[in-house]
Amino acid sequence: MTIINMILPPTKKNRRYGVASQITHITIHETGNTNKGANAKAHANYLNSTQAEQAPVSWHFTVDDKDIVQHLPENESGYHAGDGGQGHGNRHTIGIEICVNQDGNFNKAMKNAAELCAYLMSIYDININNVLQHYDWSGKNCPENMRANDNKLWKAFIAKIIDFSKNKIEEVIEHVPAWGAEAWQWATSDSSLQISSPPYSTPNMLQVAVLLHALWRDICNNFVLTKEN
Ligand SMILES: [Zn+2]
Repeated sequence: MTIINMILPPTKKNRRYGVASQITHITIHETGNTNKGANAKAHANYLNSTQAEQAPVSWHFTVDDKDIVQHLPENESGYHAGDGGQGHGNRHTIGIEICVNQDGNFNKAMKNAAELCAYLMSIYDININNVLQHYDWSGKNCPENMRANDNKLWKAFIAKIIDFSKNKIEEVIEHVPAWGAEAWQWATSDSSLQISSPPYSTPNMLQVAVLLHALWRDICNNFVLTKEN
């Protein structure tokens, strides 16, 4: 899974630069735009427009049948949930738009979005029950196709996320984000720490003990050096 970085410039009025989100949920949308070419990159261009700036409107990721494009850092609030600037949906949820362009494959786009959800849930410790619809925040009929027929596609989408989370997370999640890169490099390059698992696997108590012992060992070594100096 590759995420294409098209993050909005900090000066854009639809980007709330520096407004930190305490991420609690993921909010799922459909773009509602069936035009040919209304894919993920086209929506990145739209978010960069004066129109989107004035609305204001912004969200974190757009997914189509080929690409996942990022528009905002995950930990920054957007304008997508329709519950007001200070509403919980806008302030504390990661917004994902799924493309419905007629020249795309909607099923594949949903599958890509499910993979992205599994990835974000693992990083930010989000429970499947906290993957919500735009509808849940503001009553808008979005994501429209997934909500149709008593949420038929929505239920399949949630099942797909669970499937990714349970069975494929180790294949899906190889990516270490920039904020964790230095720590991960340190931990995996020290063979005495015994870290050979994927970055988002849960440690057991023995591994926790090894890490604490390594920390203690380093503190003691530094203390001895300080005394000798
Ligand atoms: Zn929506």
